[in-house]
Amino acid sequence: MDVDIVKKAFADHFEGQCAVYASPGRINLIGEHTDYNGGFVFPGAVDCGIVAAILPNGLDKVRAYSVDMNESAEFGLKEEDAPQQGWAKYIFGVCREMAKLGVEVKGFDCAFAGDVPLGAGMSSSAALESTFAYAINDLFAGNKIDKFALAKVGQMTEHHYVGVNCGIMDQFASVFGKKGNLMRLDCRSMEFEYFPFDPQGYKLLLVNSVVKHELVDSPYNKRRESCERVAKALGVETLRDAEAEDLERIKDEISEEDYKRAKYVIGEKQRVLDVCDALIKGDYETVGARMYQTHWGMSKDYEVSCEELDFLAELAEKCGVTGARIMGGGFGGCTINLVKEELYDDFVSAAKREFAAKYGHEPKIYDVVISDGARRLE
Ligand code: ADP
Ligand code: MG
Repeated sequence: MDVDIVKKAFADHFEGQCAVYASPGRINLIGEHTDYNGGFVFPGAVDCGIVAAILPNGLDKVRAYSVDMNESAEFGLKEEDAPQQGWAKYIFGVCREMAKLGVEVKGFDCAFAGDVPLGAGMSSSAALESTFAYAINDLFAGNKIDKFALAKVGQMTEHHYVGVNCGIMDQFASVFGKKGNLMRLDCRSMEFEYFPFDPQGYKLLLVNSVVKHELVDSPYNKRRESCERVAKALGVETLRDAEAEDLERIKDEISEEDYKRAKYVIGEKQRVLDVCDALIKGDYETVGARMYQTHWGMSKDYEVSCEELDFLAELAEKCGVTGARIMGGGFGGCTINLVKEELYDDFVSAAKREFAAKYGHEPKIYDVVISDGARRLE
């Protein structure tokens, strides 16, 4: 995140002494497809994100410049003033959602840039939303809006102004991130806890397959329906309240497919808890083992993997990588990998070489370091 570039862009387009804000993207170490089952997710903020230079302009409009798109946008602050540019919709949406919380959002000038790879599963959009939600809270609301509400502002921006019906995890992680810590968020109670993540001697990296399989019918809705059917059969609200033994008891009453879906979800709840225990002990081998279990659960039981991601997980195993799994919903995108430093170079070159030999293009590699959440820089 290059603060100087953003400040220079601000000076080139606007006048005055700006404040500078930043928010990160995120990874999710483990806990996938658990949110809509009332379970746990386990994200952390990363060391890439969005930086914005902002100054109130005394007008009733926002003037924004995107360094990365090399584009300007200008829009009013009323509901009917939505801008055309996709990126500007996020800023507009955040202004509107903050106004809905009673904040008197006024006009401002801003320039911003980012280094979260777009659409790679690190949630560049949440980084963008959190940056502006944090800034508006600081500039126009005396920071009276609490951090959870800021995360919700980002989520509601996606729902109401972008058309993406996302959960709260991405924005939550971007706002609450803390250097050297992951956060276990309970998606039922919305309570969360920090856990130390300081893998000395290991590196955390994402391997982006750069494939995304578009599927004809909606596999996510079908997964959700399976989970709901099993919860109902068990007489619980969500699978969060079910244990493996409960599932075995009703195995004959449900379809083979529903059984497998629920088996994954119930297993995943336990894996998140196991990883938390392991982190407290500094036992990164167990963390890695659970990551592989999640991968193969997503692949064989939940059936949301794809050939390329299975290939990357197998390759990781073959290279002696401590843990690897699909990150995100599935059917493409990245794997997240925990690898010993001494194996890092060999793994990265093998992943590039062998993946390219089979699929015709190299995967993209991103190293990540767990970092702080939304903040004012100057
Ligand atoms: P992701 O998984 O990275 O969140 P999304 O499709 O949800 O992918 O969000 C990407 C969108 O967010 C981009 O199309 C763009 O509109 C906006 N965005 C993210 N980062 C930037 C940036 N650095 N500059 C401008 N717009 C950005
Ligand atoms: Mg997004």
